Amino acid sequence: MVDRQALVERLDSIRAQVADAARAASRDPEDITTIVVTKYHPLELVEALFEAGVRDFGENRHPESRDKAAHIHALGDGARLHFIGQLQRNKARQVGRYADAIHSIDRSELVQALATLEREGTEPLDVALQLSLDGDTSRGGVPLDQAVALAEEVAATPTLRLRGVMAVAPIGADTDAAFATVRETSERVRTVVPDADWISAGMSHDFRSAISQGATHLRIGTAITGNRPTAP
Ligand SMILES: *Cc1c(COP(=O)(O)O)cnc(C)c1O
Repeated sequence: MVDRQALVERLDSIRAQVADAARAASRDPEDITTIVVTKYHPLELVEALFEAGVRDFGENRHPESRDKAAHIHALGDGARLHFIGQLQRNKARQVGRYADAIHSIDRSELVQALATLEREGTEPLDVALQLSLDGDTSRGGVPLDQAVALAEEVAATPTLRLRGVMAVAPIGADTDAAFATVRETSERVRTVVPDADWISAGMSHDFRSAISQGATHLRIGTAITGNRPTAP
């Protein structure tokens, strides 16, 4: 059973904190999208969040994300699923068919797999490049010095629309410095794709820092949902 009252209280509290952090950084809170990460949580929680006004949901694993996507889209217009997890090449096309955006494009083989993507309608799929801030690409992310080349590859792929960059701050890192690097890399990517202005950065424990460095899309889980059930 989802404690809806507690959920809505946490959501309201995070919304207020996001707005405060935006104002402290002289930014408009309206320019920041909070994606609520619902991975491993039941559909009941997704529905309660939708009723409370949430439209952007984050999931990180296929096929759980596929089942969630169908329900999220059935909730109504404007409900979107953002795929934020590490992506295997052989699942990329499946995820690309149901996700509204993929934030974790980090290598050429994913771009190639998605180049033959077939989706309903004619719109390209929104994607962001996941950056590796510490060079440990086993946790996902393109090395910073390869980001612009990968951006050029995405830009040359008609099935994809490059929206920006995504990153997770390394464990124990100075988050302001880490997110400043994301912002600088975003500026370099925008020299090749000027409207790729999404900066997907900031989670439950570091979203204030991410906002101070220009994040446009926060990916917040536990601070809103409460503790996650263990992975299925
Ligand atoms: C799970 C997850 C989040 C949310 O993490 P919280 O600490 O619960 O806010 C954000 N980004 C990615 C890539 C995730 O996998």
